[in-house]
Amino acid sequence: MHKIDDNLHKVTARIAQAALTAERDPRSVRLIAVSKTQPPAALEQAYRAGQRCFGENYVQEALEKKSQLAHLSDIEWHFIGPIQSNKTRLIADHFAWVHSIDREKIARRLSEQRRTELPPLQVCIQVNIDDEATKAGVSLQELPALIKTVAELPGLQLRGLMTIPAPGDDPQQHAAAFKRLHAALMELNAMGLPGLDTLSMGMSADLEIAIANGATLVRIGTDIFGARDYSALTG
Ligand SMILES: *Cc1c(COP(=O)(O)O)cnc(C)c1O
Repeated sequence: MHKIDDNLHKVTARIAQAALTAERDPRSVRLIAVSKTQPPAALEQAYRAGQRCFGENYVQEALEKKSQLAHLSDIEWHFIGPIQSNKTRLIADHFAWVHSIDREKIARRLSEQRRTELPPLQVCIQVNIDDEATKAGVSLQELPALIKTVAELPGLQLRGLMTIPAPGDDPQQHAAAFKRLHAALMELNAMGLPGLDTLSMGMSADLEIAIANGATLVRIGTDIFGARDYSALTG
């Protein structure tokens, strides 16, 4: 399992190098270790190597791990998967961040269900940047209306935008997608929503391209934990 330490150091070095190449401060990019399908021991290994932010896609799986790792109380949990409305209460109770808001109804429920003794849930709106038929996320056309609603919800703190570009190994295509998301964030800032400071974009294969185009949170799974085995998932 020491491989996870090595991998984490390599990914951290890639992030720093990409930031420097883009003439950005490496500290302006945060790493989310995406741990879906990975056993608690793998997360613990990453934690011991210094990792504190973890991203999970499935509520039930995340909560099981969270209870097994309760002794690691300073982990910051990020929910990055599709959100079903019957799961919003669990998400509001157990996560610090949600990256995948793409509907007003879900946003309202999360805000209502966030307990007032907790800090507001930090949220990003997921944008379907390549207008794919089957992908989650709002279109750029729908974005301003959802932004306006979410910005006013008391239980949520709107931080920015998240995207997953269309699959494909053309770096130009990913760069174009990330540029569009960056431009959308700049436009929202110019429209009088200056608190938006987050672009959640970039995965194992394209983190450098994302950082070159303004990513502030990168979500990395495979290059930290290795390939995923979905058959290990229960429920
Ligand atoms: C699984 C997942 C990742 C991690 O992808 P890798 O290619 O394994 O780095 C990032 N973001 C989201 C939304 C994911 O579902």
